[in-house]
Amino acid sequence: MQGKRPLDAEALLEQIFYYMNQLVNEKDFKKTLMLLTDMGRTLVNSERASFWYWDKEKKQYWTLVASDTKQLVVPEGSGIVGATITNNEIIVMNNPYEDPRFNSQVDKETGFVTKSILCMPVTNKNGEVIGAYQAINKLDENGESNFDDVDVKRLTLAAAYSGKALESHLLYQAAHVDTLTGLRNRRGFYEYYNIDVAPAMKETGASLIICDIDFFKKVNDTYGHNAGDAVLQMVGASLKKGVQQGEVFRWGGEEFIILLPGSTKDAASMVAETLRATMEQKVCTFDDTDIRITMSFGVNALNPKDSIEANIEVADAKLYEAKTSGRNRVVS
Ligand code: GH3
Ligand code: MG
Ligand code: MG
Repeated sequence: MQGKRPLDAEALLEQIFYYMNQLVNEKDFKKTLMLLTDMGRTLVNSERASFWYWDKEKKQYWTLVASDTKQLVVPEGSGIVGATITNNEIIVMNNPYEDPRFNSQVDKETGFVTKSILCMPVTNKNGEVIGAYQAINKLDENGESNFDDVDVKRLTLAAAYSGKALESHLLYQAAHVDTLTGLRNRRGFYEYYNIDVAPAMKETGASLIICDIDFFKKVNDTYGHNAGDAVLQMVGASLKKGVQQGEVFRWGGEEFIILLPGSTKDAASMVAETLRATMEQKVCTFDDTDIRITMSFGVNALNPKDSIEANIEVADAKLYEAKTSGRNRVVS
């Protein structure tokens, strides 16, 4: 591969500002990682660069494959990335085939020739490692392929900023997404409502469904809390799958809200009825036990003149009606 001129100071600054602006405005986690990956590649001028996210819960590192944001996953501790993350140290390897830490097996399988590697930990504000940058094959002007101190310095900058961007994302996720179901929580609901629904609501209309699992306490009492959790996950996934033109939120406990922008009350009632019928058929198998549940639904077209709280109250009253009139039904 042909060498490229490294960025001069002005071009470098321009690139950094470009990525900073993009990162500040990006809310999607994968797109953020994609931007971080591109930034690293641009700053060090390498043939390949990847940003590795350390998923501590799953004990894995994963990166995004440039073309389609597909994930590439490797077990914790493996490879040069593993050594970088585990020891929290920068690794510069300018002749990898002579280095015992390098596993040349992948190159043998793919035909790729690794000439140089620069791998650097990415840390949060407490200095804890949360990921790593890996640049492969420096593209030198003179045809050589060695990473030097300047590359380390430049990638350090990308890594420092990446740490901040990634950390703010993780905090955002933690605040807006329910860990059990993966659905957005109450805070996520208000954000979605304020940004994606409220501004256009007067013109396009919007409807809201609030639903609640029937006799859920009995599920916990009979099968245990973990079984209850499994049911909640199943319900969350089924609702999400069943709602194409809207968003599902875990409102709290065993209660969910579905926002349907641009939807009339009649259309929303039909969505609710389909969901009700689906839930009635679903089986959650936990520890070899089949658990079935039903759900009750309240549906309301949002009145743009009222507050969202008042609108939810109207739907909630309908849900209450569905409960008191026999459960496993939709009231609109
Ligand atoms: P109803 O048909 O009137 O809605 O009856 P219910 O039993 O579903 O309602 P109730 O409000 O009496 O009980 C809700 C139960 O949901 C009580 C609570 O322990 C359980 N619950 C709330 N959050 C969770 C959770 O995250 N996991 C599990 N396993 N249970 C939960
Ligand atoms: Mg309930
Ligand atoms: Mg409830």
